Amino acid sequence: MPPIPTKSEIRNRYLLMKPSPSTGAGLYIHVPFCTSVCLYCDFAVTIAGEERRNAWAVGVVREAEMYADCGLTFDTIYLGGGTPSSVVPERLDSIFVGLRGQLEINEGAVCYLEANPEDVTLETTTLWRQLGVDVVSLGVQSFDDEALGFLGRQHSASVALAAVEILLAAGFHTVSVDLIYGLSGQTPGGWKAQLARAVSLGIDHLSCYQLTFHEDTLFGRRLAHGLIEQVPEREQAELFFLTHEVLADAGFEGYEVSNFAAATRHRSRHNQKYWDHTPYLGLGPSAHSLANGRRWWNRRKVRQWQTAVDSGRPPIEDEERPSREELLLEALMLGLRTTDGVDLNRICERHGIDLLATNAATIDRFCKSGHLHMDESRLRPTLTGLAIADTLARSFNL
Ligand code: SF4
Repeated sequence: MPPIPTKSEIRNRYLLMKPSPSTGAGLYIHVPFCTSVCLYCDFAVTIAGEERRNAWAVGVVREAEMYADCGLTFDTIYLGGGTPSSVVPERLDSIFVGLRGQLEINEGAVCYLEANPEDVTLETTTLWRQLGVDVVSLGVQSFDDEALGFLGRQHSASVALAAVEILLAAGFHTVSVDLIYGLSGQTPGGWKAQLARAVSLGIDHLSCYQLTFHEDTLFGRRLAHGLIEQVPEREQAELFFLTHEVLADAGFEGYEVSNFAAATRHRSRHNQKYWDHTPYLGLGPSAHSLANGRRWWNRRKVRQWQTAVDSGRPPIEDEERPSREELLLEALMLGLRTTDGVDLNRICERHGIDLLATNAATIDRFCKSGHLHMDESRLRPTLTGLAIADTLARSFNL
């Protein structure tokens, strides 16, 4: 592990690259608190009381101070977690004030908040609106009580439905709902009904994720001991295609493998930065950052992160400078997971390689097989291409 950098080293080392004038950088704040831990969750989360939440809020602003004058201007702020909606609005307000005092944040920066249904009330939504939250991403996961119990969620389907209704009435720019599919025993018909339910609510955006069994989770251990089953790959693929077909028929644009927007203006501007390597800064435990060709990430354990920021040290766990090939492969993988695909001219400018010339046979093969198509300088995946984006990207000779 490299030595922990000082504040001035942070500035010189990580933040020399300015984003292009048209695109600001992204700011991510990791809120590591939840009221209980879901059985499948592998995020950096903890259950903690008010004292630790207070200390974390102060710590986030202290960490932001380490990046003051960093040269980045932010046009998106994303509060993710964990459960950001479980943080009292007054504390969120103090964080926003602190961040604006330390960092260059555009007046019109788009502000995202992840919320759990049980935290959504008329009062909280009013306060979130007053704080400038534009987009709320609601962790519904399922409209079926049995499935919610299986996942270890704290809310019921009726609470989720009421939360969506409150959010829609509050006038946010975008109300998004997260759903999980691929639960053992889930039939295509059952999943289709879940999607139809979500669409019928009039939401602006949907994120649909396949259930993943991470080793260090209760689900991972149960799977290892044969206590639960994973949906076979073929059925998972079927559910993936079904998701895209049903939502396309309902007028949603599947602009990324897992993300669907009712209109282009509802696409996630913040996530787009991860997909096209626009610089982003992450604050809080486990948060990742990318700028100046370097990637670095914070200590995952809340206490370790807190101890570092409290003593004025950057809470960085480690860093790397990806090689040109690694960055290029990642750009291809991330780009081919979106229907915008990759702009080969931009790849050439950024990475100095003309893929059309060096990989003509590969591109031709995947265009003929119906996985990719060329659209002027853009190489775009078809739906079958989206399903195997990583495999397609790895087939290129970089
Ligand atoms: S609410 Fe989200 S972050 Fe918290 S434990 Fe559940 S899945 Fe993890």
